[in-house]
Amino acid sequence: MSDLRDLYQEVILDHNRRPRNFRKVEGANRTAEGHNPLCGDQLTLYLRVEGEVIRDIGFHGSGCAISKASASLMTDSVKGKTIAEAEALFEKVHAMLTTEHKAQADLDGLGKLAVLSGVWEFPARVKCASLAWHTLHAALQGAEQPVSTE
Ligand code: ZN
Repeated sequence: MSDLRDLYQEVILDHNRRPRNFRKVEGANRTAEGHNPLCGDQLTLYLRVEGEVIRDIGFHGSGCAISKASASLMTDSVKGKTIAEAEALFEKVHAMLTTEHKAQADLDGLGKLAVLSGVWEFPARVKCASLAWHTLHAALQGAEQPVSTE
């Protein structure tokens, strides 16, 4: 667990212990499955999209603390957003996870998702943190193949 030391560990551990939206969504009309073979993380996302708005979102799955916390934070963040807003957030988080952020300005607009910003320093963990987001992207695109981070 030493990887987690600098990763805003309290927030991540809290979301791991008590994941938000950890449930199947009634009347879900978009689903997607994601798998990170490197770590063994897997999750299924359920979305209820009405028009352009994500009315409800939930997930099931198993995996490491970072993958579960990231899914919890992700579902919390995109609920009530439009598809375009959720896709924009996906792009922003993806950039945050894969590049060094040198200024606080890079994290503006990310809110509590900024707790994931330390992950980029641990390349083996980036796929854990990005799994939920790639799976969200697939669900919004209507992809039929399960997502793999490989
Ligand atoms: Zn993992």
